[in-house]
Amino acid sequence: MHPLKKNKSVNIITLGCSKNLVDSEQLAGYLNSAGYDVRYDSGDFSDIAIVNTCGFIQDAKEESIDTILDFIRAKTENKVGKVIVMGCLSQRYAEELSKEIPEVDAFYGLDDIPRIARELFDDPKKTLIGERQISTPSHYAYLKIAEGCNRKCSFCAIPMIRGKHRSRPSDEIIREAEYLSNQGVKELILISQDLSFYGYDLNKRYQLPDLIRKLAEIEKLKWIRLQYLYPASFPFEILKITQENNKICKYIDIPIQHISDKILRSMRRGFSQKETIGLLNRIRKEVPEAAIRTTLITGYPGETESDFEALIEFIETFRFERLGAFTYSEEEGTQAAGLNDNIPQELKQERLERIMQLQETISLEKNQSLIGKKLNVLIDRFEGDFYVGRTQFDSPEVDNEVLIPRQNGMLETGRFYEVITTAAHPYDLTARLLT
Ligand code: SF4
Repeated sequence: MHPLKKNKSVNIITLGCSKNLVDSEQLAGYLNSAGYDVRYDSGDFSDIAIVNTCGFIQDAKEESIDTILDFIRAKTENKVGKVIVMGCLSQRYAEELSKEIPEVDAFYGLDDIPRIARELFDDPKKTLIGERQISTPSHYAYLKIAEGCNRKCSFCAIPMIRGKHRSRPSDEIIREAEYLSNQGVKELILISQDLSFYGYDLNKRYQLPDLIRKLAEIEKLKWIRLQYLYPASFPFEILKITQENNKICKYIDIPIQHISDKILRSMRRGFSQKETIGLLNRIRKEVPEAAIRTTLITGYPGETESDFEALIEFIETFRFERLGAFTYSEEEGTQAAGLNDNIPQELKQERLERIMQLQETISLEKNQSLIGKKLNVLIDRFEGDFYVGRTQFDSPEVDNEVLIPRQNGMLETGRFYEVITTAAHPYDLTARLLT
């Protein structure tokens, strides 16, 4: 395919997780370096549309295919010049997809970003030093510190798609963080499939504590947030750093998936109920102010009523600050796909709703205990009659928000403000500026 002429427009559509988002932003960084006008999720005409797909679970696959077909339709209506597909679905099924949707101009896998830039565009930079066109609001960005995963969770297709765990060299990560902070980023959200494992593949040492210490030295960065910590080989040193260093958000994101030993064993999580409770209690003890976020799967093959009741009882007693849950979705090629997916979809849904109803009550009670408290809030946007922001206890898009009525005066997006909370809602707080 002939490289696209310069000053042509490129539209990148990103599906799936924040790791995919960073991939899209890196590709945009290459195209920017070659003078292309890159937009995200634009409805306008573009010479090239690049669909960065997700292939994690059935729903995500369907959404990716629907999006590709939307752009193929747009191509027939001359609203798009060329359609390129990349990302997890393409990594996994490029052959099948190219047979089923031959109208797509090219399919690329995951580690193909430099190749896409080279093959489709005129003389992009050979290598990037952290340059990305971030697609998030300019004051926060995701920072991917590793790719792939070495864990063997029975239900998960990611290791098959993204391969073995590969940590990025820390100096490369620091350079990217400095680049982003010079672009105005104040909050960096560290991501990978498994943050706990960072560095071990490089020299058999868990290096996340060293990395966050170095990142915290970057002056312009105000918040460093950790997402996707794995319970096994948990780097305990980060608890001391989180407790002592105000730049590290008191926010521990640790998916535990379930609490029944039978289910944890079948999930091959390599971590028992006793160890899970021990770890969570140690986090509470060493970082008492921390918001602990977890993710759960319900309806996993063989989950009995008593397994589920054990999970409900655990949520009631431990009372997570932040919690997300999903119903089990059988994924082809995973070890769990060999198990009898015996829980009817309605029952899976029913169990999911019970978990989220319980969490809504817990979240409201925890928010009510914050009324009248002072909080430091980073403003993300203005919406309706409110400035909407987050505390250090909240990740973008998944956690709670703080609503500040416009009567409080003109606030700036991307700036921190001291506020006093005035009202509590299940997943939001209302607050006024501290004068
Ligand atoms: S830790 Fe488990 S669930 Fe997470 S990406 Fe790795 S295999 Fe999948």
